[in-house]
Amino acid sequence: MTTTPTTPTTPTTTATAAPASATTPPPALAARVAGTGGSPIRAILAVTARPEVINFAGGLPAPELFDTEGIAAAFAEVLATEPERALQYSTTEGEPALREALAARTTARALPTGADDLLITTGSQQALSLLATALLAPGDTVLVENPCYLAALQAFGLAGARVVGVPCDDDGIDPDALDALVAEHRPKLLYTVPTFQNPTGRTLPAERRAAVARVAARRGLWIVEDDPYGELRFEGGRVPWIATYEGARDRTVLLGSFSKVMAPGLRLGWLRVPQELRRACVVAKQAADLHTPTVNQLAAARYLSTYDLDAHVTKVAAVYAERRDAMLAALPAALPEGSTWTRPEGGMFLWATLPHGAGHDSTALLSKAVEEEVAYVPGAPFYATDPDPATLRLCFVTQTPEEITEGLARLGRALNG
Ligand code: PMP
Repeated sequence: MTTTPTTPTTPTTTATAAPASATTPPPALAARVAGTGGSPIRAILAVTARPEVINFAGGLPAPELFDTEGIAAAFAEVLATEPERALQYSTTEGEPALREALAARTTARALPTGADDLLITTGSQQALSLLATALLAPGDTVLVENPCYLAALQAFGLAGARVVGVPCDDDGIDPDALDALVAEHRPKLLYTVPTFQNPTGRTLPAERRAAVARVAARRGLWIVEDDPYGELRFEGGRVPWIATYEGARDRTVLLGSFSKVMAPGLRLGWLRVPQELRRACVVAKQAADLHTPTVNQLAAARYLSTYDLDAHVTKVAAVYAERRDAMLAALPAALPEGSTWTRPEGGMFLWATLPHGAGHDSTALLSKAVEEEVAYVPGAPFYATDPDPATLRLCFVTQTPEEITEGLARLGRALNG
């Protein structure tokens, strides 16, 4: 179908008194939404929704591994035993049963935490919005890893922040570069995903966490430590949260989520937040959604008390490890010679870099990949500054090893053909 541009039938004049029948367009949108785009991943998912496409672009946990039975039973028990509570409004801070269970889990991981230190959020994504509201005025500077989780860039962008990328190497943030950037830009906060980062899969080693904590303590900086993937460890030892380091304790906000270990559709996350900042986050949440769904919170608390979430996560991690290995095994043949990629010890993503100097642009190459019925996310949008067009993100958890092998054969045809 073709459309004909509409041309005004009468010349426009600058009328001060419009005729009674004329309409005036409504006022413009806020500048902050005009300057912040939609998620490129959601756009790619729309293009690649055909079932034939092997989609490494989404960050979707494997749905066949959800503990559907256990979650259904937890909801049924809650609705049978305390329906009047489960279906009622709740407090903004969250249901005490869930906060207590999460405080115990956090304490067991070497970070002493009380239920009052925690605020339940509607996914950890909401925690990012609450922190942006509580901490950022337009023009404030935020430091992020370069590259960085996309929807965090969106949350900070919508708050009108100036987002600056901190140089990273194979181990994540470079603490010396961080120190120099803090001195130069006087940022409000550093946002980091130190364990199995989205998008790179990298983990910041303990000594760098200590160094980041020292920079924050010395120079005065909030740290937002986002950890939705840390439990999904396939190998190697757990690395302590930045929040456990001495100088960072009073200025680190730790974000957690059930999305990757239980199910993202529950929309359950949490925020461990220093007292000074807690009240502002609660007020921001009141304005956003009053509270996170009561029934979901109580079902999650019931699940934690009745079932063994850690055993479930161990099972999921074992399956994800096989999928990562399938991807690592197929990558050398799929990517052009001279490409490099990360080898994550857990999580859901790996990050590939096509050889520099050969003019590879993963955004331009995506349409060729989709023609071959495979998809990935181009790396450029993940960068706050200085995008590297030769990079791309691959999610290795959603498909079986056989599908991963086939998907990478297709990617090979797209990139090498
Ligand atoms: N932080 C990071 C680093 C993520 O990758 C995601 C989801 N992809 C989120 C936060 C948001 O997760 P949710 O709101 O589902 O908890």
